[in-house]
Amino acid sequence: MGVYPKVPHGIGLINRDQAQRGSKKPLSLNCHAGTTTLVLAASSQGLDKVSEDSQAFFAERALGSLHFKAIVMENLHHIVVVGGGAGGLELVTRLGNKLGKKHKARISLVDAGLTHVWKPLLHEVASGSLDASANEINYRAHARKHHYEFQLGRMSGLDRSAKEIVIAAFHDDEGNEVVPERRIPYDTLVIAVGSTANDFGTPGAQEHCLFLDSLRQARRFHNLMLNAFLRKNHEALQGKPHSLNISIIGAGATGVELAAELRLASRELPVYGMNHLKSSDVSISVIEAADRILPALPGRLSAAATRELQRQKVQVLTGQPVSEVRENSLVMKDGTELPSEMTIWAAGIKAPGFLADLDGLEANRGNQLMVEQTLKTTRDDHIFAFGDCAACPQPDSDRPVPPRAQAAHQQADTLFETLCNRLEGKEAVPFVYNDHGSLINFSKYTTVGNLMGNLSGRSMYIEGKVARLFYVSLYRMHQVALHGFVRTGVIWLMDKISRAMHPRLKLH
Ligand SMILES: Cc1cc2nc3c(=O)[nH]c(=O)nc-3n(C[C@H](O)[C@H](O)[C@H](O)COP(=O)(O)OP(=O)(O)OC[C@H]3O[C@@H](n4cnc5c(N)ncnc54)[C@H](O)[C@@H]3O)c2cc1C
Repeated sequence: MGVYPKVPHGIGLINRDQAQRGSKKPLSLNCHAGTTTLVLAASSQGLDKVSEDSQAFFAERALGSLHFKAIVMENLHHIVVVGGGAGGLELVTRLGNKLGKKHKARISLVDAGLTHVWKPLLHEVASGSLDASANEINYRAHARKHHYEFQLGRMSGLDRSAKEIVIAAFHDDEGNEVVPERRIPYDTLVIAVGSTANDFGTPGAQEHCLFLDSLRQARRFHNLMLNAFLRKNHEALQGKPHSLNISIIGAGATGVELAAELRLASRELPVYGMNHLKSSDVSISVIEAADRILPALPGRLSAAATRELQRQKVQVLTGQPVSEVRENSLVMKDGTELPSEMTIWAAGIKAPGFLADLDGLEANRGNQLMVEQTLKTTRDDHIFAFGDCAACPQPDSDRPVPPRAQAAHQQADTLFETLCNRLEGKEAVPFVYNDHGSLINFSKYTTVGNLMGNLSGRSMYIEGKVARLFYVSLYRMHQVALHGFVRTGVIWLMDKISRAMHPRLKLH
């Protein structure tokens, strides 16, 4: 025994009930080598002994004609994590390394995409200052290395009484169905599906705005931006009017950082051959409804960021709610119309819509699942949620944990402990958010931020290279959680080499 699987294609697994009923219909068709926890035994081996030792059930009737026989490790607790983002991927990595590797539990990750890119990098992908493919993690390869299973699919529903999640049918780019709707059973479910931009129902926003919620959208933005530069460069060559107006709605961290990245892109383009378009021909505006930018951060940070944006010739408009987005303009609440050929919506977030009505789980107006301090959903002891898609209370505060990468990272750590405890029948661990401060990166120009003093609880203002170091360390911490220290060191070195060898801006 102990032969670990090289499953021949075509083996289907059946569960205990199906086998007892004599059914030959496989339960799971996705059991390619290594993706499903099962043990193989040559048909000559003593089945009773195998069954006892592994507490598994031998699906002999279904598989009798095959060269190998499969035993489903049915008694393993199945933890399903939906969403392999900033929080979810860290969680499955740790669970796989600790529980999956030793066959103490079966760990599965379900994600709507095939690859992971850390979301706070998306504005750099959009502007072209970062090549996403160098920072992309393929879930299948990562799963194999870290002892969890990966299932491609978009969760669309939940059956709490059957303890199954529903995965929507999967279609290819031509609209053909590749895999029909299916269900995945769980013992413990963790939902970490993140958030998307919230346009608050503003007329025209969906039709005319670009969003930065996914790698696909960031790449689309990048292509549109390059084409706009190319078109304007050509118009300049012909002596035609050629100014380009780019507007960013929302001056939170994403909007502010994106503005700086776009300014850098507009300065770099002439270096790469678009000599007729000057950076001053590209007007970049950041528009904020509140009376200052970065409204959620301390006033000093907001003032420093405003100065930096102005220094980079980015127009800052505050106290200006946008009431309508048109094809080539924005209409403000006071009726003023601003020209805008490219408009990016970066104001506010909400959790995915399907969470609002998920088989009776409690959700708030922003579709976030309501969880207790242990990250357990308020109405189901078997379902947890964390990251941007969950509203987690904080002690001594009437506001939930903020939707940030550092919160998702810390919650993944707490939930890892809770899930390990759960298998041993121990208590869940309450989550306490530790705000380490906020950093705003102005591309290669500068970084400003505040760091929280652990003991004093006071914040300390920092800027420049020191601030930049802390900013980068957040991503490196994410990489350490996914790859370990040594591999992260190698990746860091490769990044340095790649930056020295390739153009500063991604030009395709
Ligand atoms: C441009 C930008 C810059 C940012 N900068 C910062 C920053 O500097 N610092 C900071 O702290 N935070 C930053 N944030 C916020 C940060 O990215 C999020 O708070 C963080 O990613 C949340 O992590 P998460 O695991 O909850 O969700 P995500 O990282 O968004 O991951 C969600 C995952 O769920 C998957 N998914 C979604 N729906 C489904 C479904 N139905 N079925 C299956 N899978 C699904 C997605 O494919 C994705 O992989 C930034 C965000 C953006 C957009």
